[in-house]
This record gives sequence, C-alpha cells and structure tokens, in this order.
Amino acid sequence: MPTSPSQIKLLLLDVDGVLTDGGLYMDDNGLQSKRFNVRDGLGIRLAQRAGLKIGFLTGKLSGIVKHRADELGVGLVAQGSVNKAEDARKLAIHAGFTLAQTAHLGDDLIDLPAFGVVGFPMAVINAVPEVKAAAQWIGTVPGGEGAAREAIEFLLKEQGKWEAVIEKYRSAAVRDGQG
Ligand SMILES: [Mg+2]
Repeated sequence: MPTSPSQIKLLLLDVDGVLTDGGLYMDDNGLQSKRFNVRDGLGIRLAQRAGLKIGFLTGKLSGIVKHRADELGVGLVAQGSVNKAEDARKLAIHAGFTLAQTAHLGDDLIDLPAFGVVGFPMAVINAVPEVKAAAQWIGTVPGGEGAAREAIEFLLKEQGKWEAVIEKYRSAAVRDGQG
C-alpha cells in the first residue's frame, strides 16, 4: 500500500541515471568514470541533517560509488544488486525502518522490483515510461542534473522540515562545503 511522503524516513537512490545522467566515461584501459552533481551532494547532506536517511541502491559495481558515498557520509550502500526488491528490504532493515517508510528514486526497469515493495516509489523525469507509470511521484529534473536534490526537497517539504533546513543556511549555522 502506498505511503504518504510525510511518513518516509529512508530514501534509496539509484545511481546511474539518477545521481548521474546515465553516461559512463571509459578510457583506452577500460577505466570508467561518472559525473555527479554537487547539488545532489548538498541535498544529501541536508537530508541527513533533517533526519531523512539516504542510501544508494545500484545494479552496477564500482569503486566510484563507494568514493561518492564516503564523501557524503552515506553508509547505507548496496552495489551490484540483481534484485532491488530484496536489497531495498535489506537496506531498510539495516537502517531500522520498514519498507513502508522507504522511498526509492529510480529511472529504469531494474528499479521496478523495488518500486513494488517500497512505500513511495519515485521517478526522475527522464525515466523509462514503465517506471514513470509505476511511480507515486515524478520529478521535473533529469538524472544527473539535481534530480535527487529535487526528490529530497519534495520529501522534506512534505514533512514540514524544509524551512528549518533553509533557516540554518540563512543564519550560517551550517558550515558545509559543497556537496
Ligand atoms: Mg538507473
């Protein structure tokens, strides 16, 4: 049964196509790199500050994702997932929340199993049609361009926590660098 966004405690972010535009840079030696968006980084930090737990849930496996997670203090990470429903369940249990209290932001078909079990499935605007059809919320920002930031902002606003977060920045009570 879908959950109200005001009840969500944990947001699981897909990586490729959500935190990135889905592009993979690859050099002659097969070394890959990805391009992240600092606005998502800052959004993840302010979610954590506001008590919205963030996790990464991705089908691919790379050191890049671990570096990005470490940089942002995201300890909840499942990589190389072949069953996102099962891994969403594991991450939620590990974080101490129910699947009903969990949201997942995705873009492609491998996110659909997780959409079937979480309380609040969310899609980026350029997700594939099947994913958008299964989502309870669709953003306006494409993956890699601040889509996670938009989803976080939506949830914190629904939870009445956004203004308090912004006030901390206005009053310079927060001394974060860029995300
Ligand atoms: Mg994806």
